Amino acid sequence: MKILAVILLSLILTAELCAKEYLVDSPKAFKKVVKNVAAGDTVKLANGIWHDFEILFTGTGNKDKPITLTAETKGKVILSGQSNLRLAGEYLVVSGLVFKNGFTPSSEVIAFRRNKKHFAYHSRVTETVIEDYSNPDKREGDYWVALYGQHNRFDHNYLAGKRNKGVTLAVRLNSENSQQNHHLIEYNYFGPRPIFGSNGGETLRIGTSHHSLTDSFTVVENNYFDQCNGEVEIISVKSGKNQLRNNVFFESRGTLTLRHGNGNVIENNVFFGNGVDHTGGIRVINKDQIIRNNYLEGLTGYRFGSGLTVMNGVPNSPINRYHQVDNALITNNTLINVDHIQIAAGSDAERSAVPINSKVENNLIFNENNQQPFTLFDDISGVEFSNNVANTKVVTALESGISQQKLVLVRAENGLLYPSNSVLGVSKELSPITKEQTGPNWYPKRAGDTAFNSGKIIEVEATEDALFNAVKAAQDGDVLVLKTGRYNARKVININKTITIKSKHRQEARLTFERGTFFEIVDGGSLTLDGLDINGSNSPDYSGNTLIRTKKWGMTANYRLVIENTRIENLDINHSFHVFESGKGAFANQIRLENNQFHNISGDILRLDKEIEDLGIYNAEYVELVNNQFEGVKGALVKLYRGGSDESTFGPHLLMKGNQVQNLGLGKRNKSNASLFLHGVQVSNIEDNQLSNAAPIVVEHTVGEPKTSIINNQLNISPSIAELKSKGLHTATLSNKIVK
Ligand code: CA
Repeated sequence: MKILAVILLSLILTAELCAKEYLVDSPKAFKKVVKNVAAGDTVKLANGIWHDFEILFTGTGNKDKPITLTAETKGKVILSGQSNLRLAGEYLVVSGLVFKNGFTPSSEVIAFRRNKKHFAYHSRVTETVIEDYSNPDKREGDYWVALYGQHNRFDHNYLAGKRNKGVTLAVRLNSENSQQNHHLIEYNYFGPRPIFGSNGGETLRIGTSHHSLTDSFTVVENNYFDQCNGEVEIISVKSGKNQLRNNVFFESRGTLTLRHGNGNVIENNVFFGNGVDHTGGIRVINKDQIIRNNYLEGLTGYRFGSGLTVMNGVPNSPINRYHQVDNALITNNTLINVDHIQIAAGSDAERSAVPINSKVENNLIFNENNQQPFTLFDDISGVEFSNNVANTKVVTALESGISQQKLVLVRAENGLLYPSNSVLGVSKELSPITKEQTGPNWYPKRAGDTAFNSGKIIEVEATEDALFNAVKAAQDGDVLVLKTGRYNARKVININKTITIKSKHRQEARLTFERGTFFEIVDGGSLTLDGLDINGSNSPDYSGNTLIRTKKWGMTANYRLVIENTRIENLDINHSFHVFESGKGAFANQIRLENNQFHNISGDILRLDKEIEDLGIYNAEYVELVNNQFEGVKGALVKLYRGGSDESTFGPHLLMKGNQVQNLGLGKRNKSNASLFLHGVQVSNIEDNQLSNAAPIVVEHTVGEPKTSIINNQLNISPSIAELKSKGLHTATLSNKIVK
């Protein structure tokens, strides 16, 4: 047994201050010590890396003398591999730990319980870090933190980079001992959560629909949500009597959603969207919700992701559907450059219960672009609008409750805009929490993705294995500049960092490759190819080669791929030679092809159709093809597939503009029989393209309200649009010139 020391036997003779401090350096020593800890004791884990350490911290402290588990030095104790923490008992405090380089083998990294019977009460986890601690199979769900029990506090923690399924922080109400919990969640830094690409990417959830009519009394305040982009719900409130206040939402896609439960108060929160796609605000459902003194600026979201959404309900709703909005009070909020405010949203045959007994008053609305933001989807007579002001003339039905006034805005010292000539909107006392005030002060908050072209510029000579060696030696963000010459790759080049490969003189670096794949993008990798001349002439004489692919299975990090100013030709040594193929589970934040020439290709250009289970999962968020030429391609340009009826995501998005396409998609192995096959894509803009001798554009609308616009193209055949979920006319906008 290795208890290093009972270091501090306080010499102060009063017995009650006789707290012990233990420093342990092995799981075995920890286990032995924990058995004997008493109120007031402290257990310190020795500095270093603790691999596969499942901590079970139990004990009974009291209000004045908690039992503490901490690090010898805060931040110097790393829990890695298959480590996790359970705490159970009373008045326990955990601080200073860092979870990284691994993932939990159980369903939580930190659980405020030992098991279904033994919970934590009056306990606290503070100054603890969980970063990139994601299960390598992103479809395996877990919670990073699960709050059970009552009167617990989670504060000054850092949670960033969750990439697998499951809520980052869940407040659980699934037993009586966890209801009316009065937990306090404060001063935490919720760092970037990448787009998950299906349901299960919430950052915070309080309750579940099953227990949603139960009160939780959880307070969430002074937290910073930084680019929490997992899915449509940043926060999902599914219980009653919670208070969410003074939180900042910075460039986070999605909304704070009052999904289930009544009597919640949302106040003094600040949303800064900065015009980022799909940034939203607050979505209101259920009874007795108060939305007061919130500041929302620069939010682009629409539909259920709008800056403010008040939903329609389902009459006599089952517990997991939509309860009618009743007695909502929406007051003293400021909405500046919020593109959309939607009332009675979701109105349809099922959701026919309009909001009732509700008030919208003293709010300030300003839109620089002079577009009024309101859409009304049903009878809104149950919502009384009074004493609101807007700089634009609003829809007629709201004119009596929202007066038009010229507003002059000035940014105050607190960073928020206030009108010099109105007192409506948020209070001047509002003081948004800063990023620096949240999380442990000893742990740096890292930036998001490494930008392309952010590192060194490295010149490369055309020698044997030059490219392979150069990529291997490069650092994140570097640019490899290839001198004029021939570069042949004998080996697959792994891309595990953000890297740009470009030619010194445009298209004078000629690249060939001898394996079935030239570049394989793996976790941490993002690739730009710029100005190259790539040829398939040295590729093996097999079917199914790919110029670029992701790892075939098990990628957890989102990636970016950009190809520009590049000639790619003669990928035709055998059939089905593709330009790019996504692996299963891989997810691109962006794929952009711009100003390239593609000639003689026996397969597809972009294959993004690996998620065939129809679970709402897909392979890429933004796919962009701009000003390219495609000629002699046997397969399709893009196969982009997002199946199922889940509505937790915003994408995929497709942009195809200014491309010239000739002789494409007509190979017998192109089973889609399409030049462009889009299934379940949410936003498609196809314009100013010319397609001749090409297979048709096929668009299948499935879920949500997809926005499809196919305009100003010159096509040899009309696009084929299908609404797979409903009968009747499709919703696409079409206006094209058909030239046979
Ligand atoms: Ca969700």
